[in-house]
Amino acid sequence: MRVLVTGGAGFIGSNYVRRALTGAYPAVADAELVVLDKLTYAGNLANLAPVADSPRLRFVRGDVCDARLVSELMRGIDQVVHFAAESHVDRSIQGAADFVLTNVAGTQTMLQAALDAGVGKFVHVSTDEVYGSIEHGSWPETHPLEPNSPYSASKAAADLLARSFHRTHELPVCITRCSNNYGPYQYPEKVIPLFVTNLLDGRKVPLYGDGLNVRDWLHVDDHCQGIALVADGGRPGEIYNIGGGTELTNRELTARLLAELDADESMVQPVIDRKAHDRRYSVDITKITEELGYRPRVDFAAGLADTVRWYRDNRPWWEPLKESAALPEI
Ligand code: NAD
Repeated sequence: MRVLVTGGAGFIGSNYVRRALTGAYPAVADAELVVLDKLTYAGNLANLAPVADSPRLRFVRGDVCDARLVSELMRGIDQVVHFAAESHVDRSIQGAADFVLTNVAGTQTMLQAALDAGVGKFVHVSTDEVYGSIEHGSWPETHPLEPNSPYSASKAAADLLARSFHRTHELPVCITRCSNNYGPYQYPEKVIPLFVTNLLDGRKVPLYGDGLNVRDWLHVDDHCQGIALVADGGRPGEIYNIGGGTELTNRELTARLLAELDADESMVQPVIDRKAHDRRYSVDITKITEELGYRPRVDFAAGLADTVRWYRDNRPWWEPLKESAALPEI
């Protein structure tokens, strides 16, 4: 079996690749993994270093928008797991062009090539942000899409294109919509690694608005476990929410991180809220739980402590990224 993984040098994609190559997913235990990644600012070969010597891994640097390359790579592929995307909401607010190119046109290129090659399963990794924002309750997969940021709008467009390739062409597509992930190897512009690395450097952390926005935090291992279940047993044409982590306001999350790093409230710098900042996300995970036996395994307190430890122990991984990137200064 051969699996094409796009974005496999990013945070979540590399977790999937590392775990697939170290036996976490029985259905792909012997599979060859072809990773296609453009290595944008967010892609990093160091994320694949633990499995770089695996004879089952082939890495190709390239763009999911490159139709010729994608159709070449698609030959002999049994399964696609499509992670590649521009993924940071704040960057999409500053400029949305790359989001439309990679997330929308890139997904269309991937879908067309998969259709032409007769691929057996195409897992499109979407996000719960496509649903918009919800005050109470949780979204089932049937909820209309009401994305609010250019990032989530581009992901919603990709998600609908993926759905349309199943409806129109019967391409065996499954779509996953997951909540916020945390864990090791996450680029230090996202809130948890940004706050942890700032605090490790004795710098303040920027808290948006009133800090009462709510997110459901799921360990990246649990997201990838859900994707593996969908890749193996998900029904073509179906959408599966993935979540079931821990709902916290940003203020509560910040308090936990301050406690982990022996810091206090004086390290919090309130900053003007993100434009159109979604108030709360919450997915209903009944479908993937009942159909595929999914359940999150990583306890949040333990997962967060491990994640903080990882950043503490891996300065050489994140220091160059913080130096090179235009990260928010406060
Ligand atoms: P990331 O930004 O860490 O990684 C994205 C990867 O895609 C990088 O390796 C990058 O080099 C690659 N890439 C970008 N543009 C490319 C292109 N044109 N061609 C080939 N490769 C390209 O993102 P992530 O947090 O790992 O997210 C992965 C996927 O999961 C995304 O589709 C994202 O929308 C989705 N998702 C993320 C979260 C989260 O909390 N991070 C939650 C739900 C869904």
